[in-house]
Amino acid sequence: MKRNDIRNIAIIAHVDHGKTTLVDSLLKQSGVFRANQVVEDRVMDSNDIEKERGITILAKNTAINYKDVKINIIDTPGHADFGGEVERVLKMVSGVILVVDAFEGPMPQTKFVLKKAFELDLPVIVCINKIDRPEARPNEVIDEVLDLFIELGANESNLDCPFLFASAKKGIATLSLEDEGENMDPLFETIIENIPAPEGDIDEPLQVLVSTIDYNDYIGRIGIGKIERGKIAANDEVLIVNIESPHKQQKVKISKVYEFEGLNRVEVESASVGSIIAVTGVEDIHIGDTLCDIDKSEALPFVKISEPTIA
Ligand code: GDP
Repeated sequence: MKRNDIRNIAIIAHVDHGKTTLVDSLLKQSGVFRANQVVEDRVMDSNDIEKERGITILAKNTAINYKDVKINIIDTPGHADFGGEVERVLKMVSGVILVVDAFEGPMPQTKFVLKKAFELDLPVIVCINKIDRPEARPNEVIDEVLDLFIELGANESNLDCPFLFASAKKGIATLSLEDEGENMDPLFETIIENIPAPEGDIDEPLQVLVSTIDYNDYIGRIGIGKIERGKIAANDEVLIVNIESPHKQQKVKISKVYEFEGLNRVEVESASVGSIIAVTGVEDIHIGDTLCDIDKSEALPFVKISEPTIA
């Protein structure tokens, strides 16, 4: 089954190139604003907990509805120090948006993530941002991005990838520098056209690879991942298994299932293949675990935290 109503995409950018502003302008166009106290609190809580417990919750999820498609946008840590985290995030998505400042050009810190995206054969959409800057030099930056692609071993289709020009600040994206642009529609349309819809069989036994762990004082540990196969519902009993420790096989009961909506998690009765979900109720849930059908224990391969390959 192809989930034409979903696109899962990661966003890659060097710090300050405008990732947050770009996601905000996509959110704004769909009627969601970040100036929301509840959200601010949540983000800050997460950071504190992250420091305290050393758990990885760097990947922040956002979901934006455009026409009839839910676009899950997953933030990736830009730096090579988060090698394992990056790989796990990239395993959840079917493509990436690379945001590059129209003045600064591509920066070495994004190389590592981009290389991983190429290794996983993910289609890339390049978004040259800040074209409103007086010193912007978008044409040169295109060449610099292409040089970087070649250096990282990009294939023909990567070299042929769509380039967009944006002023995230003004909420504008265009496919051509001659076009002044009006809104973010060209970026939404490019995502829907160029990033494949997730696929999988809804009738097969459940498999979810837990890619991220979040934590909340009220609901405890939260496992986040993409449904690779089957479906899951609140109160389902599932098996939790791990390819690294085959003896760990626990029967657990999921309390709640959430999907992402704007900057929030929203509770859903059930979710199916292709969706990125969060589940609660399992205190012994860890990154790399697989949630499986109660009758079919089958752990998914898991990406270990590895040393960065590029300095
Ligand atoms: P991030 O670190 O990649 O998330 O970057 P931010 O979104 O926080 O942006 C970094 C800085 O660049 C902020 O001061 C933004 O206001 C500014 N910025 C982002 N997008 C644009 C843009 O399109 N044009 C201009 N001129 N500035 C921008």
